[in-house]
Amino acid sequence: MALANVQITPQLVQAVRDAIDIVGIASEHTRLRPNGRRMQGLCPLHKEKTPSFSVDPVQGLFYCFGCGKGGDAIKLHMLVTGDDFPAAIESLAQRYGIPLPKRAERTPGGRRERDVSGALEAAAKFFGEQLRKWPLPQRYLAERQIAPELTQRFGLGFAPDGWRNLVQALHPRLPMADLVAAGLAGVSESRGGEPYDRFRNRLMFPIHSPSGRLVGFGGRTLGDDPAKYVNTAETEQFHKGTLLYGLHLAKREIRETGRAVLVEGYFDVVGTVAAGVEGTVAGMGTALTPEQARLLSRYASEVVVAYDGDSAGENAYRRALPLLLAEGLAVRRARFPEGHDPDSLRLAAGPEAVQSAIAGAEDAIFLEMERLIPKDAGNAPRLTASAASAVRELVGAVADPVARHNYLRRAAERLRIPEAIFFAQLAERRPPERQGGARMEASPAVVASDSSGIVRGVEEQVLELLLKGQPPPLSELPPPEVFFDLQCRNIFQVFCTLYGRSGGPPPDGRAVLSELGSDGDLVDRMAQILVEAPVGSKEVELQELLGELAHRYQERRLRELASEISEAQRKGGDDALLTRLYDEKRRLSLSLHRRTRPGAGKGAG
Ligand SMILES: [Zn+2]
Repeated sequence: MALANVQITPQLVQAVRDAIDIVGIASEHTRLRPNGRRMQGLCPLHKEKTPSFSVDPVQGLFYCFGCGKGGDAIKLHMLVTGDDFPAAIESLAQRYGIPLPKRAERTPGGRRERDVSGALEAAAKFFGEQLRKWPLPQRYLAERQIAPELTQRFGLGFAPDGWRNLVQALHPRLPMADLVAAGLAGVSESRGGEPYDRFRNRLMFPIHSPSGRLVGFGGRTLGDDPAKYVNTAETEQFHKGTLLYGLHLAKREIRETGRAVLVEGYFDVVGTVAAGVEGTVAGMGTALTPEQARLLSRYASEVVVAYDGDSAGENAYRRALPLLLAEGLAVRRARFPEGHDPDSLRLAAGPEAVQSAIAGAEDAIFLEMERLIPKDAGNAPRLTASAASAVRELVGAVADPVARHNYLRRAAERLRIPEAIFFAQLAERRPPERQGGARMEASPAVVASDSSGIVRGVEEQVLELLLKGQPPPLSELPPPEVFFDLQCRNIFQVFCTLYGRSGGPPPDGRAVLSELGSDGDLVDRMAQILVEAPVGSKEVELQELLGELAHRYQERRLRELASEISEAQRKGGDDALLTRLYDEKRRLSLSLHRRTRPGAGKGAG
């Protein structure tokens, strides 16, 4: 979502990394106090009363022991502002005075780049002026009891009736092609190729990116146009499916409370805020997309869906629910009387009615269970079976395993079927892992039970020492399989890849972090390992720990070999296979008794 005419080059990214200062960025959002070599404060990413947010100025990293988020200064900026990576680079570069390479300079043939942002800003100003000039929109807002402060806060405007108001007001100053590129003007054959205003006789809602950049408009008709809402045409900056209306204004509240209120229309956002409910956003007039659900999950842990109380609202809710659940969001549903939306309810019954509908919103999954499970479950076997599969489908979308488990227990109880049956069927169709963490998937052979606290401790210490100290030559490092923890193994693999690629000094934490990108669970884990490590933990010998990992791996492999051998014998003896297994077992036992250097583990893999 970076400005279209800025080129994000590796040089620019590096210049930003070199210039930014994590303490400066963190201090804009929380008060930091020195604590040993680190700085500590209340986490700006989740709500807390005692500080668990730690910043390491030397390494340029942060980690929160409360919410588990961590990374470098760019990632912190992204999490706090909602900028994506290109937008973060761009805004940090601007802040630190780093010149931005313009894409236009590289355009072959010297074609001029369109200034879409300039056209949008000029249009917003024009629409605002028209709102103050014309009685029609003012009367409309007065009838809807929207206070002038809210008109201002949402930057509402008015596009007067007529085909060339905006075009004529802006054209001498701005090239027509800019207005067309910004989705503000259309060109039609039937009008002789003359550009015309896309928005006519409409109340105008400026639409912003999560970071607050104006990217387009939505317009609500104030006449009898059958198209109640019209949006900017899809442009390079305006992708309906990836935006949420009102998010840039609501994100601070959402982050502080953990709760977002999701409504259907732009006016519902304004009306809900007018009813005294903050943290409200809307989709873009189309069904909620997975990208929008993901965007919301970057700020909220819980979403109250406050869609219209009619069948269209019901359908929209039903489609949105699995998307929200899949992003790990807890979902509650606010109920409105038939035919009401949050805004009409405010006008009919007062702000308190909206507030209490939202405060009293019920858990979406419990509500769905009520709906899906017949009252006399148990007496109607076929109905019960189909209800069970519908509930499984629904609960399967819940990302959090603990929550999922609790819902299933409740469902099994209500369905009057043994939990075991229910759970077993669900295990066959688990939801896919969330995208962020799945980027560096390693072999599935790693079993979860190996992630016990003690094991993880050794692996993390090894990584910390490798990244901060002087690791042995690459050839003496063990194979990745000695790491049982999947994330540790992935980090180790990236370390080895960089080590091999550089041919020079071993990569440090920063190098590995930037290789991992600026998002995802691995970055959080890296930051944890690097920031959490107690100062002075270097007393432990890296070689000793590596030896421990290799030893542990050999022991496990020996146990596996024992069962593979008995399995092969039971099946009636494939001689070649048995020979190979015995051979490996003998070699392993030997090396295990010698407690050899860790590098020797390689032969066992
Ligand atoms: Zn936190």
